[in-house]
Amino acid sequence: MAKAAPQQEDTSKYTSGQFQTIIDQCEGCGRIVTAGADKFCRTYAVPAAKWRQGLCNFATHAKPEIVAAAAKINPLKASKRAAAKKKK
Ligand code: SF4
Repeated sequence: MAKAAPQQEDTSKYTSGQFQTIIDQCEGCGRIVTAGADKFCRTYAVPAAKWRQGLCNFATHAKPEIVAAAAKINPLKASKRAAAKKKK
């Protein structure tokens, strides 16, 4: 089965004035579209707004770091568990 030829994306909507250009934080994202001399986001019309509160949630090049909190250990239960293991 032959693959369909990739379709040329119509970039005229990005240059219509409704879309704002990407910001520095967007560089490297896979959703960037180049229209003319400028770069735009395929997903958001105002990329700067997506970065105002931190990371853009649709960014393909930046993921939030998930910090796992260390589990709290109850010392009483830990000593009972250790004593139970010694009995075996
Ligand atoms: S998805 Fe987010 S990071 Fe990527 S180009 Fe759009 S606004 Fe920028």
